[in-house]
Amino acid sequence: MISEKKDIRALSKEQLRAFFVSIGEKPFRGSQVYEWLWNKSVHTFDEMTNISKEIRQHLEENFVINHIEVDHFQKSEDGTIKNAVKLFDGLVVESVLIPTSSRTTACVSSQVGCSLDCAFCATARLKRMRNLNPDEIFDQVVAIDKESRLYHDRPLSNIVFMGMGEPLMNYNNVLAAIDKITSEDGLGMSPKRITVSTSGIPKMIKKLADDEVKFHLAVSLHSAIQEKREQIMPFAKTFILPDLKEALQYWYQKTKRRITFEYIVWKDINDKWEDIQALIDFAKAVPGKVNLIEYNPIGDDDFRQADPEAIQDYIDALEAERIPVTVRRSRGKDIDAACGQLANKR
Ligand code: SF4
Repeated sequence: MISEKKDIRALSKEQLRAFFVSIGEKPFRGSQVYEWLWNKSVHTFDEMTNISKEIRQHLEENFVINHIEVDHFQKSEDGTIKNAVKLFDGLVVESVLIPTSSRTTACVSSQVGCSLDCAFCATARLKRMRNLNPDEIFDQVVAIDKESRLYHDRPLSNIVFMGMGEPLMNYNNVLAAIDKITSEDGLGMSPKRITVSTSGIPKMIKKLADDEVKFHLAVSLHSAIQEKREQIMPFAKTFILPDLKEALQYWYQKTKRRITFEYIVWKDINDKWEDIQALIDFAKAVPGKVNLIEYNPIGDDDFRQADPEAIQDYIDALEAERIPVTVRRSRGKDIDAACGQLANKR
């Protein structure tokens, strides 16, 4: 049952301090409660041991602490962990922990389902139900950090917004969550370790630059040929490549941070020389690096993994043009935790 009481984590620190003043208490009590909520991630008022019993009682009567619950947990043979996370209203999203020798990365969701309709993506088949609140994004990170310490003996080192949803369609909540993740009275993580991955919404990319965000930006490009990109990502009819290029140039001018182009190569879709040439032209116009991602079939015959020779052609051509390129092997395939596979399947 959803509580009628207000979620206390919807209040900013200033609002919490003001609340305490309004009930005749000192404002620093608000800061103490804020720390319990965001730095110590407690789920009950009773755990706030430096707050008097009477005040805790008062909080209990007026607020709830909405929080996620890891409803289902799967561990892959390669160490990848997938959490199906239940939200306060019973909806479910997924988040993934990806361990490598040098880092542990949390891949978090920003929407329940997705607003967009990428043809190759399992999440696109779930309709968008709602945006996640800042605390729901934050909690996914806290849950994965705990699992990282428990199963891999190290804290979480990086976060990518590459789970379910288009983060820039939930702009304010994603930025509010990152603020809590990076602030000293939150998790204190460096924004340099956070990457927001977008399918490429020009207006919102410019807004990120104007808002002087400190995290990294990745763009799912998948084709630098307009007609082809529209087939792969139908919303690209609205967010056309010239506008995307201009927005990315604007981002680079303002932030001086290079963009990562996420790029899947599919057999008979974008594995020809004209595709490589178009990518080179695009990447030359916007300083960045190309991340070639291994494809994970989602039971759809239209999208098939490209031959290794085609991937090698991409690598050779990009390197010849001095465009940095890496190949990302997908992880957690056996538990449907790999890129594009998140679809609340069990
Ligand atoms: S790839 Fe990302 S933006 Fe596209 S439908 Fe899937 S979740 Fe949404």
